[in-house]
Amino acid sequence: MHAPADLVSTLRDRGLRMTPQRLAILSAIMHTPGHISPTALARRIQGEMPGVNPSTVYRTLALLEEIGVLAHAHLEGGAEYHRAEEAGHVHLTCSRCGAGDDLSLEEATRLQAMIEETHGFHADLTHFAISGVCETCWNSVDRTGPKPARTR
Ligand SMILES: [Zn+2]
Ligand SMILES: [Zn+2]
Ligand SMILES: [Zn+2]
Repeated sequence: MHAPADLVSTLRDRGLRMTPQRLAILSAIMHTPGHISPTALARRIQGEMPGVNPSTVYRTLALLEEIGVLAHAHLEGGAEYHRAEEAGHVHLTCSRCGAGDDLSLEEATRLQAMIEETHGFHADLTHFAISGVCETCWNSVDRTGPKPARTR
């Protein structure tokens, strides 16, 4: 189990001791691609280090966010964390199957510009996911039902 050396020194610079729990949490996060929910992370840590209190995990997550290591976003199932440098995207989450997809900031620019033009509002589209229906769920909808009557 290890955490990147630069992170360990970042924490040390902030006067934070690298406890075994913090190390386990850091290492789990750094080895998780994409997002992880606080409860899923707590479960994983407890699998590795029985006896770790979930609240310790949640506090450490908040702390890591405070110093800029992590960032959270609100997805279909609640807040999830990813590494701050990977947080620059807009989340699309399917409200039926939970599948996620991402928009790059570049792709989101037009939407952002439209909101700004029409409302003068500077949207941070990365913080909350856009909820909807994914392509697979959309296509699996039964379209063989009665068709609307044609008028001609
Ligand atoms: Zn938030
Ligand atoms: Zn994300
Ligand atoms: Zn779906």
